[in-house]
Amino acid sequence: MVGADGGPAVLGVLGVGVVDPSTPVIRADDPGVTRGDGCFEGCRLQVGPDGIGIIDKLDAHLARMTRSAASLEIPFDEPAWRALVAETAAEWTHPGEAAVKLLLTRGPASGGGPAGFVWITPLPADYPRLRRDGLRVITLDRGVGSAAFAGAGWLLGGVKTLSYAINVAAQREGARRGADDVLFVSADGMVLEAPTGSVVWSFGRTLHTTPTGASGILAGTTQRLLFERAAAAGWRTADTRATLDELHSADVVWLVSSVRGPVDVVELDGKARTRLPAVDAEIRRLCGF
Ligand code: PLP
Repeated sequence: MVGADGGPAVLGVLGVGVVDPSTPVIRADDPGVTRGDGCFEGCRLQVGPDGIGIIDKLDAHLARMTRSAASLEIPFDEPAWRALVAETAAEWTHPGEAAVKLLLTRGPASGGGPAGFVWITPLPADYPRLRRDGLRVITLDRGVGSAAFAGAGWLLGGVKTLSYAINVAAQREGARRGADDVLFVSADGMVLEAPTGSVVWSFGRTLHTTPTGASGILAGTTQRLLFERAAAAGWRTADTRATLDELHSADVVWLVSSVRGPVDVVELDGKARTRLPAVDAEIRRLCGF
């Protein structure tokens, strides 16, 4: 089946099942499109030579989507989604990696309940190069304080909503300035997260990441898995509020996300970083990449 950009795609629709990928699935009066009122997940699918596909950390993604939907007060039928994901993934048979998006909207204002779909496409074309060469990253001011989300549930901190226009605008700004990706910094100068990834850094055998909660950042499933496995492998792990100066002095800095995996930062705000291939290889392996 062929997706919008001419590449292969598989589409599964909530309450319907697998359909032709050109099938319209969202109504014009759905606040999911008119106001970004919905949530999503992005996962990696790996298909072995036998044609059998496995989605990395599916339980963690479904658990986070359950929490996102609850924060938005949108019903989320977990067993129905699990079945739809399995049915849709079974239709994708290209060996290797693919990207899976689960997307839930509030549904048509005229009624009918939530709308949702599972959308599978190839791995983005630039990921192999970025994984190989590492990331040139610039920092951009997110314009909010590092504790702006404390006690303000309506700001939807940590919720993976569809309102990602700021995140993609930041990535465009990064591209305009010749960077591969962006790292958001709070108005008071603290390291936050990337537009579509968590930030992890190492000093010796300690891995650090930004605390969730008041910072409003998303709790990354890849960062969480990495910290669990790293702790079992003898690393210390810590949630650390860091300034940019502290980040510059780290041994290795990674941007970490489900589909691209952990990729080390080779340049931060124009300053070259020395790559540590042995440490980097260990972190990638712990994440399953
Ligand atoms: N932070 C943001 C804002 C994200 O959008 C993402 C993933 O897309 C992440 C962090 C990393 O989360 P995960 O590792 O679960 O993919």
